[in-house]
Amino acid sequence: MKQDWYATLVRHMLLLVAGCLLVGMLTGHYGWCLAAGLAVYLAWTLKQLLRLHRWLREHQPDQPPPDGYGLWGEVFDSIYHMQRRDQRARGRLQAVIDRVQESTAALRDAVIMLDADGNLEWWNRAAETLLGLKTPQDSGQPVTNLIRHPRFKEYFAHEQYAEPLEIPSPVNDRLRVQFLITRYGNNEHLMLVRDVTRIHQLEQMRKDFVANVSHELRTPLTVITGYLETLLDNVENVNPRWTRALQQMEQQGVRMQTLLNDLLLLAKLEATDYPSDNLPVAVTPLLQSIVSDARALSGPRNQTISLDIENDVLLKGSEAELRSAFSNLVFNAVKYTPEQGTIRVRCWADAQGAHLRVQDSGIGIDAKHLPRLTERFYRVDSSRASNTGGTGLGLAIVKHVLLRHRATLEISSVPGRGSLFTCHFSAVQVVIR
Ligand code: ADP
Repeated sequence: MKQDWYATLVRHMLLLVAGCLLVGMLTGHYGWCLAAGLAVYLAWTLKQLLRLHRWLREHQPDQPPPDGYGLWGEVFDSIYHMQRRDQRARGRLQAVIDRVQESTAALRDAVIMLDADGNLEWWNRAAETLLGLKTPQDSGQPVTNLIRHPRFKEYFAHEQYAEPLEIPSPVNDRLRVQFLITRYGNNEHLMLVRDVTRIHQLEQMRKDFVANVSHELRTPLTVITGYLETLLDNVENVNPRWTRALQQMEQQGVRMQTLLNDLLLLAKLEATDYPSDNLPVAVTPLLQSIVSDARALSGPRNQTISLDIENDVLLKGSEAELRSAFSNLVFNAVKYTPEQGTIRVRCWADAQGAHLRVQDSGIGIDAKHLPRLTERFYRVDSSRASNTGGTGLGLAIVKHVLLRHRATLEISSVPGRGSLFTCHFSAVQVVIR
């Protein structure tokens, strides 16, 4: 095609030159005739160029190009067809965008797009009802100016979005919303917000039920164990056939009491997000007292229990909760380590925060159990649990306490070699002395 036009152009030029030379032969002015002929051709070419320029600048969409002759006509038509093709492609793209926007607008979940700085770019209708965003006033506003809940600010600033966040809706306290944030493109954020009020209410009902049942069972159980204790105190007045039965009843009663206490503690931990007594807790004396209790628990088993404090840290939080979490870890190490074993408790701090590690040379845990270990009542081996008298709630308590203290629990273990439980406290929770 291009080659055709090249040949046509050459033919036209040759014809022009031949025509000029012919007129030159008749008039005797070759040079002038050639110059005049080329000047006319140049003028015509410039005129076509100007027409093209005017059409490109002023034409309305769909207005066909001016008529052109020869190569210029071809150029006009090609540009016109290219524009039409572009328009059609743009139309198709716009239709896709419209459909995506329509379907996202119809979603019951809120979809919000934020730029790399966390400013609002686009959101659907559900975002207006769930979060109270206003179109178009809020466009370009930082999201943390509009969703002011402290936990959201902290969650957004930390940029750790693996776990979703659940908070009350900014427009209605009775609505519970769950945030899921994903990063895409140039560090832009896509935020999905779901109404999880119903799930939250069911979860709340479950928690209330467990807390109420535990609470109601506590009084009758105290009466029963109290009487059993009195009977055992006066064992000489009891028929000897009943002595063993009474002892076992008292043992199981005490076990039930521990279970109820653990359930109530868990219910209390779940009731609020963060501990109310957020005071600096000195870790060194706390660990010293836990380790001395652990030595007492270990008794005649000849275990070596050592404590290494590398940094004397203070942790912001509740002393009672931290004591409960750390003692659960240390006492578990004692319980699940055979005689002559070693248990090492270490505490240190670095740029990431403070760390507490309980290492034992005990029976260890198979890797397949590790992900579920902090679930309530999860036991590696139920017969083992009944030997140690555990409730199966210890690690669930540890997980909840750590969650409330902005900390995480890392567990690694090799069966037969021992286990390693490490609590990582974030730097904001730590005061180093
Ligand atoms: P329990 O009251 O049964 O000890 P936990 O929640 O404290 O309940 O622990 C859950 C399970 O994890 C235990 O039943 C035990 O099998 C396992 N486990 C916990 N700590 C250790 C440890 N240091 N070594 C080996 N197994 C452990």
